[in-house]
Amino acid sequence: MEASLGIRMDEPMAFSPQRDQVQADGSVKKHEQNFKLSGVKKDIEKLYEAVPQLGNLFKIKDKIGEGTFSSVYLATAQLQVGPEEKIALKHLIPTSHPIRIAAELQCLTVAGGQDNVMGVKYCFRKNDHVVIAMPYLEHESFLDILNSLSFQEVREYMFNLFRALKRIHQFGIVHRDVKPSNFLYNRRLKKYALVDFGLAQGTHDTKIELLKLVHSEAQQESCPQNKSHVITGNKISLSGPAAPKELDQHPTVKTVKRPYTNAQSQIKQGKDGKEGSVGLSVQRSVFGERNFNIHSSISHESPAVKLMKQSKTVDVLSRKLAPKKKAISSKVMTSGVMRKTASSCPASLTCDCYATDKVCSICLSRRQQVAPRAGTPGFRAPEVLTKCPNQTTAIDMWSAGVIFLSLLSGRYPFYKASDDLTALAQIMTIRGSRETIQAAKTFGKSILCSKEIPAQDLRKLCEKLRGIDSNTLTLTSDVQGPAARDPAFSEKTDHNVSHVIQQTPEAQHPGNSLHKDSNGCGGSLNTDTISLEGWNEVPDEAYDLLDKLLDLNPASRITAEEALLHPFFKDMSL
Ligand code: ADP
Ligand code: MG
Ligand code: ZN
Repeated sequence: MEASLGIRMDEPMAFSPQRDQVQADGSVKKHEQNFKLSGVKKDIEKLYEAVPQLGNLFKIKDKIGEGTFSSVYLATAQLQVGPEEKIALKHLIPTSHPIRIAAELQCLTVAGGQDNVMGVKYCFRKNDHVVIAMPYLEHESFLDILNSLSFQEVREYMFNLFRALKRIHQFGIVHRDVKPSNFLYNRRLKKYALVDFGLAQGTHDTKIELLKLVHSEAQQESCPQNKSHVITGNKISLSGPAAPKELDQHPTVKTVKRPYTNAQSQIKQGKDGKEGSVGLSVQRSVFGERNFNIHSSISHESPAVKLMKQSKTVDVLSRKLAPKKKAISSKVMTSGVMRKTASSCPASLTCDCYATDKVCSICLSRRQQVAPRAGTPGFRAPEVLTKCPNQTTAIDMWSAGVIFLSLLSGRYPFYKASDDLTALAQIMTIRGSRETIQAAKTFGKSILCSKEIPAQDLRKLCEKLRGIDSNTLTLTSDVQGPAARDPAFSEKTDHNVSHVIQQTPEAQHPGNSLHKDSNGCGGSLNTDTISLEGWNEVPDEAYDLLDKLLDLNPASRITAEEALLHPFFKDMSL
């Protein structure tokens, strides 16, 4: 079957995530495009070959997403009488674990199809190739629209995200990868869909049967690489050992997430935070979307946090790997409070290396703590970053809070950290180091931090980042507005930005990254042409909700159900 191909889809490109790539501004770019096009064409041909039954039903038009674990295609289908339907075909990499695939599918079939949770139409399999066919939702690139959204649109966006989260949390699904590229948004139609259950896990009482078999990656990694699992549609039969056995105690740093995946070697750094929805050939970054990386204590130039896990090797390794460059250093340890959960922990918390930069023999003999750490560092809750073994649906609410932070501040990604410790340091810079340490105690982690960082006022922070003068509540016309794609925090700049954020506006010196010297030069923003669209009167309820989402303590963090009832959404109904 001939696949008709073209960068342009049938619809105008306004909603296409690939718009950036269409702008041909030279022959080099054109050449690149042609190259990508032929790459896409080849991929489509390969997919028809791998799963021939697709050819009977679909015309595959384009590749719309490519990550480490899947490629997503736009196809059209003549499924019933009537017009052609647009379908998204998600081709999972053949090395994905069969239980993982079946669990993803079960989340979509059981919880999906309503309340802004993506549903599924069909699933195809041939040999180890699985393709999930879903209704196609044309959607925006978050980055492209971030700074043009009205305040009312932001309210609607968040409300609809909470609807989806309430739905999946009712089923005992922890999504674990809540972020804009997994929450599709069609601005024109006001349609929303939570997608990608590829990292989902079940709560202890989950209603998704297969999620009961999906444990943390730490447990998964001990699952034997046994290809005798057979998956056919929704059915799964296991001829290997059914339950993953206890985590074994490899003294080396593990880089395994999905046991059937050997993709690490070919993963390239994704670009500009639009992973998942852009790039015909951009691959998901190791540290970006799905983090394989378990050793996470490499110190960066930015405020670095040291996560002293009770694992055996992590810090030893990182010390070998990384030169010491400390801005803020801290350590995280499992404290005695959680000894029951972290059962392998020796009885005494205070060992030879407590509060030092070493790992003592007591700690070396501790077993690696089993805790899931999937997701993207910048969206990870503090309990995920510190490897708390007891993780709940509250982790998704934290991620929703980080999205809200982007929407209110106009910056995406808000936190850009390649590892958990940097991410933790960045959280501390906003939420305060003492507060973070205090909260971590409640879930059994003790964090050591070399410097005290005060918590920020969320309103002031967001207004400053958005470029709104908090005194006059107008767009500061002498401000060179920061680009949406500048993260509020990044590996290279977070030191500067945190410095800026910590200062009062009066104390800010000219020439920093946010404010231009007010001597009349600069000023590319024009208050006449840029509508404030409600941004000059953001109610306190918005920041109250943000504060409750970014609650460092998962036990008191607001739930999706509660969030929907928050005064911020007072005139909105389900
Ligand atoms: P991955 O596990 O590789 O991240 P996702 O399920 O998140 O896969 O899909 C990757 C991308 O493909 C999404 O970010 C989105 O841009 C696109 N996509 C996925 N499902 C759909 C769909 N049903 N309709 C439209 N686009 C989709
Ligand atoms: Mg995704
Ligand atoms: Zn020790």
